Amino acid sequence: MASLIRLHLPLPLSPGATLATSEAQAHYLGAVMRRRAGDRLLVFNVESGEFAASIDRLDRRSVHLVIGERTRAPAPEPDCWLCFAPIRRDMTELVVEKATELGVSRLVPVLTARTQPARLRADRLAAIATEAAEQSERLTIPAIAEPLPLAGFLAAFPPSRRLFVAAERRHAAPLSPVDPLQPHALLVGPEGGFAPEELDAMARHAFVSSVTLGPRILRAETAAIAGLARLLAGSAPS
Ligand code: SAM
Repeated sequence: MASLIRLHLPLPLSPGATLATSEAQAHYLGAVMRRRAGDRLLVFNVESGEFAASIDRLDRRSVHLVIGERTRAPAPEPDCWLCFAPIRRDMTELVVEKATELGVSRLVPVLTARTQPARLRADRLAAIATEAAEQSERLTIPAIAEPLPLAGFLAAFPPSRRLFVAAERRHAAPLSPVDPLQPHALLVGPEGGFAPEELDAMARHAFVSSVTLGPRILRAETAAIAGLARLLAGSAPS
């Protein structure tokens, strides 16, 4: 059976409720996906879980949905942050999409000495994360933080969260899967890598562990995706 369209609906969901989608979702359902009154879909959010829904009526501004039975209860998801030096815009967008599919709870852009200046469009990144969460059957949408310079990022980093710093060319332990519900984060550097003094400064923090992703020098986007796949390999389906 073809999978149903899933939409993130940030409203309290309960059987029998009638709720309206946003204008963008109405455009997607009506104009892009050609859905009609009576068609079924799934809606979800972190507080309510996931529910069956059917289309009551559509217009250009919104689609009115009747909420049916709950299909998934709210459940804990991995407490994993991806912290990354922004790279080329298309590659940053790829990282946001793939990190969301893999299950991160927060995306934190970190400005390092060798980060190339790039304007991040928060609204576009949020839309990419929402679409990836809908597609990958998550119940949550990762938060996207404001970019922080590395020093400020380290100063604000919660010491009870483990920070794995992906460090090529250093004698570091291989990155292994962790308990996904324990707070942790992966930090990946820019195309030019971290400056040696940045790696030294990070290593002085007790919450930091330098890790290797193997003998190859990976592009930053590959390192982020490969690192997350390894870290989150122990996540169970909710
Ligand atoms: N320009 C750097 C060099 O040639 O040494 C390579 C930087 S790499 C393209 C970008 C980032 O990916 C690095 O800062 C690091 O965080 C991560 N990375 C790439 N390969 C890695 C590996 N084998 N182990 C750990 N991290 C890696």
